[in-house]
Amino acid sequence: MLKVRTRIAPSPTGDPHVGTAYIALFNRCFAHQQGGEFILRIEDTDQVRSTSKSESDILAALRWLGLSWCEGPDIGGPCGPYRQSERSALYSEEIKTLLDRGHAFRCFCTADRLNELRARQMQEKAALGYDGHCLKLSQEEVTAMLEQGIEHVIRMRVPKEGDCVFHDMLRGEIRIAWQQIDMQVLIKSDGLPTYHFANVVDDHHMQISHVIRGEEWINSTPKHLLLYQYFGWTPPTYCHMPLLRNPDKSKLSKRKNPTSINYYRDMGYLPQAVVNYLGQMGWTMPDGREVFSVAEMTAAFDLSRVSLGGPVFDVDKLTWLNGKYLREQVSDEEFIRLYRDWAFAAHKVARIVPLLKDRVDRFTDVAPLAGFFLAGLPAIDADSFAHKSLDAEVIKRILQFTLWSFENLPGFSRDGIEHTCMSLAARMDLKIRDFLFPLFVAMSGKAVSTSVVDSISILGLDITRARLRHAITVLGGISNKEAKVLEKDFQQFGGIGD
Ligand code: GLU
Repeated sequence: MLKVRTRIAPSPTGDPHVGTAYIALFNRCFAHQQGGEFILRIEDTDQVRSTSKSESDILAALRWLGLSWCEGPDIGGPCGPYRQSERSALYSEEIKTLLDRGHAFRCFCTADRLNELRARQMQEKAALGYDGHCLKLSQEEVTAMLEQGIEHVIRMRVPKEGDCVFHDMLRGEIRIAWQQIDMQVLIKSDGLPTYHFANVVDDHHMQISHVIRGEEWINSTPKHLLLYQYFGWTPPTYCHMPLLRNPDKSKLSKRKNPTSINYYRDMGYLPQAVVNYLGQMGWTMPDGREVFSVAEMTAAFDLSRVSLGGPVFDVDKLTWLNGKYLREQVSDEEFIRLYRDWAFAAHKVARIVPLLKDRVDRFTDVAPLAGFFLAGLPAIDADSFAHKSLDAEVIKRILQFTLWSFENLPGFSRDGIEHTCMSLAARMDLKIRDFLFPLFVAMSGKAVSTSVVDSISILGLDITRARLRHAITVLGGISNKEAKVLEKDFQQFGGIGD
């Protein structure tokens, strides 16, 4: 019988997302319940957006949650390497098969032509997608263009008529008209594969039996199945999990909710509670119990019991569950150890102490000065922002512009934070002292504290984002209309530039 093998295949292009952990959890439970294997592959085909920092953060976050894998870039395994950027030779080899069989073709269309095509299709309200222009090229023409070294991509052929019909473990039969499927680029002009091609080639070579992934991939599945057919490979079984949602039922997004696993770690949630809560997303234990471990979930796991109603990731409910863990699952001794490890994490304390030393005379001075490093959202209200020359509107503008700039700041380094503040203050025509005032209050709850730039850098983007947002909220928030105006002003005034 076919061995069950599942995988999580994150793209290292940002913070470790709770959605990645959720999909990893269900893949792992399914595989282990079936006596199978769960592996981790890094899909870094997007060379511009992929970073090794994001990769190591994702691995660390999954490890923190206890979602271990038995093969992966960090531990190797029989189907390695497990990083797509290290598997180029395989993709070059495999694309030849499709070209030789006529299932894929070279496309020399310029970006200008493709843009024009798109504009025309939009104007005519026609389906968007490649029009097959280069399918008309003769072999001689292709050879000549290759000899001239003309830049090109490789696309897959897609039937024009009929439907792609496939079975989804949760949704049953899914039918998608081929007409809706684009002639997907498989190999980019730099010779590297796109997600779709690398994903299929790797799932096959890594002997993945079940692809359990988010529902946003349903529309890509016909392309993937067609590739399996072209290669003559047996496709895996597909299962598209419901997407996590904000309490207002929109797709979970960091604009409305913290989505980085690091945020939950930094806010002092227990990994067991976070993973338990993720296990409640679309899943209930057969006996209805709310507190369960990954091992218990695995033992009881049955994919057909996953419900498709959009699971809501509600931070308040997670907080409640975390409290239950602290009260009922953690002994006093464990509490001390866990709290100490969290609050006095060596890498953090080593950066905080130098900021404090010059400002304290006794240890009793430490907590009032540095307590905000260990707190959640500061206890502030609109009055906390009273200032001789800045009104609430300007203060909200400072906070919002800072937040947008920080979100675009690669690496979120101390120097980058400082530079951002200086340049924003200059562009807003504010004295740096005045500019920093609302940041001090938003971050520490007080107008005076340890250096705000250093504090922000130690607290990290996730906590900073939450505090800036909280500050904006206590100042009355920003309506959608106001946000539009602010966005426009922010762009006009150079956005994130220098
Ligand atoms: N790299 C894709 C992602 O980031 C994987 C999708 C899949 O599981 O096929 O979600």
